[in-house]
Amino acid sequence: MKKRALLITCGVVFALSIAITAGCSDPAAGRGGDPKEPVANLIEDGATKYYKHQAWCPVCNGRPLYEKHYVDVDGKRIYFDSAECAEKFKSNQSKYLPTFKEQIEKAKNHEGMWYPNMG
Ligand SMILES: [Zn+2]
Repeated sequence: MKKRALLITCGVVFALSIAITAGCSDPAAGRGGDPKEPVANLIEDGATKYYKHQAWCPVCNGRPLYEKHYVDVDGKRIYFDSAECAEKFKSNQSKYLPTFKEQIEKAKNHEGMWYPNMG
């Protein structure tokens, strides 16, 4: 009886560890979980950043940002979390850009430590 209880306990622990590991499958979570990452400033593509502390997608507020998804505005680069969002921004810049500028102003007041979904 005792041995069986131990086996069940082991099984539960094993299942839990799988669940925890599966929850960490997001590649962005593997970098120490620093909430400051990733920001535009860390993308080393040589482009001038629209806002170097940009940490959120201007379309869906999502993260992380990717170097390959971007739109250049006034010679400055804005990054996105997906190609879809970059396309949306490009095709409706007059809608998204003012919101993004407002977000940047808020972020500046927080010394860059700010995201739209931070609350
Ligand atoms: Zn997005």
